[in-house]
Amino acid sequence: MAENDIVRALRALLPEGCVLASEEERRPYECDGLPVFRQLPLAVVLPQNEAQVRAVLSTCSRLKVPLVARGSGTGLSGGATPHAQGVLLSLSRMNRILELDPLARTARLQPGVPNLKVSEAAALHGLYYAPDPSSQVACSIGGNVAENSGGVHCLKYGLTVHNVLAVRGLTVAGEPLELGGAALDGPGLDLLALSIGSEGLLMVVTEVLVRLIPRPPCVQLVMASFPDVHSAGNAVAAVIGAGIIPAALEMMDRKATHAVEPFVRAGYDLEAAAILLVESDGTAEEVAAEIAAIERVLREAGATGLKVSGSESERLRFWSGRRNAFPAAGRLSPDYYCMDGTIPRKHVGRVLEAIEAMEERFALRCMNVFHAGDGNLHPVILFDAAEPGCWERAERFGAEILELCVELGGTITGEHGVGIEKINSMCVQFTPAERAAFFAVKEAFDPEGLLNPGKLIPTLARCAEYGRMRVHHGALPHPELPRF
Ligand SMILES: Cc1cc2nc3c(=O)[nH]c(=O)nc-3n(C[C@H](O)[C@H](O)[C@H](O)COP(=O)(O)OP(=O)(O)OC[C@H]3O[C@@H](n4cnc5c(N)ncnc54)[C@H](O)[C@@H]3O)c2cc1C
Repeated sequence: MAENDIVRALRALLPEGCVLASEEERRPYECDGLPVFRQLPLAVVLPQNEAQVRAVLSTCSRLKVPLVARGSGTGLSGGATPHAQGVLLSLSRMNRILELDPLARTARLQPGVPNLKVSEAAALHGLYYAPDPSSQVACSIGGNVAENSGGVHCLKYGLTVHNVLAVRGLTVAGEPLELGGAALDGPGLDLLALSIGSEGLLMVVTEVLVRLIPRPPCVQLVMASFPDVHSAGNAVAAVIGAGIIPAALEMMDRKATHAVEPFVRAGYDLEAAAILLVESDGTAEEVAAEIAAIERVLREAGATGLKVSGSESERLRFWSGRRNAFPAAGRLSPDYYCMDGTIPRKHVGRVLEAIEAMEERFALRCMNVFHAGDGNLHPVILFDAAEPGCWERAERFGAEILELCVELGGTITGEHGVGIEKINSMCVQFTPAERAAFFAVKEAFDPEGLLNPGKLIPTLARCAEYGRMRVHHGALPHPELPRF
């Protein structure tokens, strides 16, 4: 079908101003938070309610037009990158909090509600929504569900998957799906868990029921310095090993503290090879006891300096450096590439040392600022896209870090999703049989493969091609795969 006919069909479904087709109007949607991948969509649609989303889906399904859902476009793995012959379905106008029930401690949300708005609304009742991605001022609840997003406080309170009770979605044909519910358990296969982290490949999320929890009355932060990354890594394992689950346990290496301190003045120890930020929350008595236990474990693990926040403003100042770490990377280098892998936390020191060796090999700098308690690494590779070959080197550097994560029993993503960015690394993480199972699930929901095609699940041919390009430690990976 000709592009004009598709646009005409979409215009017949939606009110004026809800279908964008000129190049100028489509340009802002050409990428998400990973702008190395860019693509203009055929058209952008901005539905205002679920009935309109359903009409768009059933029309695209009938016309066999690919469709990519988009929340706020802050994703860091190219998940919302448009399809050249497809429709970009923005949920940003469906941004209402439909119901906030303080007694049940739940909120029913349209998918375009920004994450932070939920906690702002719940604050009136002394409640909040725990998953707190650093992008929470902008990113949408629908995007959080699609990516199973995490944040600084997910160590204690869980990721999106642990805080969503129910999801309402539409299949590619526009049929409604109700997954989960207000009760704690339900019969049948757990399709709710399957939908969370499905990156827009199985359904379009149109409503989300989230759990709200009480705001802790007291919060305090310990900042600890370490002379090397190994002892900082071991301290992370020691805190958890001692039976303490802090509200947050973050690490910044020296490159990160040096990048951020000159303009944020958070009070970081610039002599330290790494610092840990360990937060405790609860009643005043609980926090006092936990902070004392944390201090003891950190000292025993070799901390050379400890500071405990003495006031709320000091706690926020200690956090301000961590919060500004990514903007600070922009001061060091024209471009940066934020990776996202997980490892068993006992390997933190080993991986950071391996990354240092890779910096030399790839002739690129990398700073580390991450959710150490979850073993969720965020190496930030600094590069200059204007220099020929530099992005390709950064990409290979990132892929090698992810492969090391897999080798050590970890995963290629902790919270940013796979999208396009990590699709090759999926070949390293999963066997052909596991990838075939993913495809079978995809086919059960979307037999024509119209929802977000080319993302998340690599084809056999793609893995074979990647395998041919990538020889690790002299051994050909996946020798069982046919090479063609
Ligand atoms: C500065 C910065 C900091 C960040 N910090 C964190 C962090 O701490 N933790 C973290 O987890 N992430 C973080 N992110 C990544 C990003 O914010 C999250 O992945 C977020 O959940 C994406 O939400 P979004 O609304 O922007 O989704 P988009 O980027 O618009 O889309 C992301 C994916 O979700 C799909 N999708 C979106 N809406 C729907 C829907 N309604 N139905 C079906 N599929 C849908 C899209 O197709 C795409 O695959 C950060 C990003 C930035 C730019």
